[in-house]
Amino acid sequence: MKIAFYDTKPYDKIWFEQVSREYGYNIKFFEHHLSLDSAPLCAGYNAVCAFVGDDLSAPVIEALHKAHVGLIALRCAGYNNVDINAAKGKLKVVRVPGYSPAAVAEHAFALLLAVNRKTHRAFYRTRDNNFSINGLMGFNLRDKTAGVVGTGQIGKIWGEIAKGFGMRVLAYDTSPDPGTGFEYVTLDILFTRCDVISLHCPLTDETRHMVDGKRLSRMKESAVILNTSRGALIDTEALLGALLEGRIGGAGLDVYEEENGYFYEDKSSELMRDSDLTRLISLPNVLVTSHQAFFTREAMQAIAMATMENIYAFEHNKPLKNEVTAEG
Ligand code: NAD
Repeated sequence: MKIAFYDTKPYDKIWFEQVSREYGYNIKFFEHHLSLDSAPLCAGYNAVCAFVGDDLSAPVIEALHKAHVGLIALRCAGYNNVDINAAKGKLKVVRVPGYSPAAVAEHAFALLLAVNRKTHRAFYRTRDNNFSINGLMGFNLRDKTAGVVGTGQIGKIWGEIAKGFGMRVLAYDTSPDPGTGFEYVTLDILFTRCDVISLHCPLTDETRHMVDGKRLSRMKESAVILNTSRGALIDTEALLGALLEGRIGGAGLDVYEEENGYFYEDKSSELMRDSDLTRLISLPNVLVTSHQAFFTREAMQAIAMATMENIYAFEHNKPLKNEVTAEG
């Protein structure tokens, strides 16, 4: 198998070189994102390995198909960037579901602890010999109510962590799982009652902007919203409005609607042209991280291994247990 690997970062090489050696696969690492411009680079390769910021729209899929690529191996769980209908009958698409749900759930909690207790601000104060604690007051999590939207692999663990902090857990999912022990309620009740809300459902046509102005207006003034799932679950304009008017307590965001072109890149020497991102970053009660919730040693190893297993199954015509299809 010859694999064209797009959007390569130094940490990808470390894990994928090590694991692919065991399979005897030949990986060509490209730093470019996959796009219509960079798709011709995959000529002569059987598979492309792509990530969350790669463009897998219909024209790019058509270009891969013309280049005789048979497989798109996503090295991520979400696949909202892939036009699955365009791939149907042309290429197989596989993903890596659930490589380390704990990594994402733990990061969501790290965001919560920082936003609530303002540790991100305290870090800068004490480095500057400013030992004032004015403005750094938070609230106890114990006996408060946590809301989890999407109780799949990540959401379940997030809810368990919340329970460990002594919180009550309310949940919303289109397919509730009674085994979680969480109390399932409607989305509107969850938004009204919770002190902390964490989003863990996939981005679909149905969930795009599920957190809009109306839903944000239901939140308590002190409540914190966390998004480690996909940026477009939240209407950014509406979130900014709620934050700027003090209608909600804060936000911890690992994802952002317009993250492509910014997240995973060092833009420190350029002018920031995204005014919404600039405003979010500037707010003291918001913490933005760069889609890094998955980024642990355990997760990287699991992603590399699962990606190679997916490619191996494709090469040997075995059932593709992680295939993404239009039928779901
Ligand atoms: P999962 O498939 O195990 O769980 C998703 C849950 O969402 C399921 O229980 C499903 O029933 C539920 N759901 C589907 N549609 C819904 C809706 N309309 N309303 C409410 N719930 C709905 O997925 P997971 O492994 O827990 O991952 C969740 C999401 O996390 C992924 O889709 C991905 O976008 C994101 N993710 C982010 C990172 C990161 O680094 N930030 C890493 C991995 C995954």
